[in-house]
Amino acid sequence: MVLDGIWNSFLKVVRAEVGSQAVETWLKSVALVNFEEQRGILFFSVPNQFIFSWIRKNYHHLFRKHFPEILARENLEFEFKVESSLSSSSHQQFQLNDSKSQSDRSSESQNKEKQSLSVVGARKLTKKIAAAHPVDISNAKKDSLSSRYNFHNFVVGPNNYLAYSAAQAVSKGYVKRYNPLFIYGKTGLGKTHLLHCIGNEFKILHPEGKVLYKSAMSFVEEFIQAVRNNKLHNFSEKYRKLDLLMIDDIQVLSQKEQTQEMFFNIFNRMYDEKRQIVLSSDTPPSSLQGFQERLISRFNWGLVADVTVPTLETRVAILLKKAEDLKIDLSQDVAIFIATNFASNVREMEGALTRLAAMTMLTFDSISLEFAKKELIGSTGGDEKDKSNLKPGTILEAVLKIFRFQREDICSKRRDNGVVLARQILCYLLKKYTNASLRTIGSYLGGRKHSTILHSLIQVDARIKTDDYFKEKLKEVEICL
Ligand code: ADP
Ligand code: MG
Repeated sequence: MVLDGIWNSFLKVVRAEVGSQAVETWLKSVALVNFEEQRGILFFSVPNQFIFSWIRKNYHHLFRKHFPEILARENLEFEFKVESSLSSSSHQQFQLNDSKSQSDRSSESQNKEKQSLSVVGARKLTKKIAAAHPVDISNAKKDSLSSRYNFHNFVVGPNNYLAYSAAQAVSKGYVKRYNPLFIYGKTGLGKTHLLHCIGNEFKILHPEGKVLYKSAMSFVEEFIQAVRNNKLHNFSEKYRKLDLLMIDDIQVLSQKEQTQEMFFNIFNRMYDEKRQIVLSSDTPPSSLQGFQERLISRFNWGLVADVTVPTLETRVAILLKKAEDLKIDLSQDVAIFIATNFASNVREMEGALTRLAAMTMLTFDSISLEFAKKELIGSTGGDEKDKSNLKPGTILEAVLKIFRFQREDICSKRRDNGVVLARQILCYLLKKYTNASLRTIGSYLGGRKHSTILHSLIQVDARIKTDDYFKEKLKEVEICL
């Protein structure tokens, strides 16, 4: 319990510092297994060497920075045990430091032949994952645009169609009536991705155009620096010259009167000179708190477009696209499984895929349903009951109990509302909690085709969002599990 508390405190500060993706993708798979107080050594276990290397390379500074504070002591050491390795099932010890440890080196030499192949694969994957990892974006470029986000790898669905079409129009640069383009939606749904798409496309079509992507936070920081250094004139001149300005997460300007004032001036000038402004926010303009009225009204002058949670089909399409980019072998069944378990945040869903990919990469296997289930179920719920060992029979029983049907009813061809509802819920829970493929679920439900099961899942996904009665029933069954 104490160890859990320590580890959770660490994850909390890290989440605040570098974002959820690092935590979900990498650090969640680590366990703090022991703390030897006398010697000041924290012992961790990691699932494989790849994840260990990644953490050592990218996050070791976080361990050094935060654990001394959490434990209120200096001179801590960190030891990692890698659970699975190519060499043997025995554990290997690693120190968390920049240079390779003795045992790290010796384990490498033991497995030279096998490793040489894996290391090439690992490096390739590391590069790809690094490229798909927001934390690692280099902001060294003047325009701060990440070339990784483009319209080709943005999946369009009903949830983002308007924002996508407007983004396309704006990037072409000749539709002046979408000024500003204001994109809003909850976190992890593709706003930042779309902003980079606009910038990248705009640059291709207008090589001479001056483009700048800026997070609102860094806009604020830059403004404060300019005030401190008496460089306000340079600051506003820089923005005045832009053809396209994109400010991400504009809600950050809340209560920041002076920065809002400066932004107001920049906005007015750019608007009058017909230069394009694109903003993103976590709420629509009308719900922004702590903003001057005149700014809010300007945010509504152009086009306000939302991005919402993607449907199951779109989520699966996103996963397949990411897998293709990462050159990962991902079956539709596994994609549906992941998409069913990560229904509301694309970033978290993507994090899960990356983690699964990292864990299977050393063996060059494709991600199996069984493996995905083992890794993902139970790790997503926090306080929830562990559902990782649910059997199809248990789920069936719960459904029959709540709906008071017999198995024959569910498996029959009956289409009345009650049976359809129960069947859909059964189908969904089988996909969510077991490693059954669509085909297996189909046979389980009276020999239905896998396309019929997929159709059911898509319907459930939509009903969860819109149908309160359905949600209520689903909850009742899940409580019984
Ligand atoms: P937001 O800015 O809304 O919090 P991001 O743009 O950072 O979200 O998206 C989070 C992750 O999900 C990114 O890696 C992004 O590429 C991915 N993503 C979200 N929506 C889509 C989509 N429609 N197609 C492809 N990738 C998407
Ligand atoms: Mg964002």
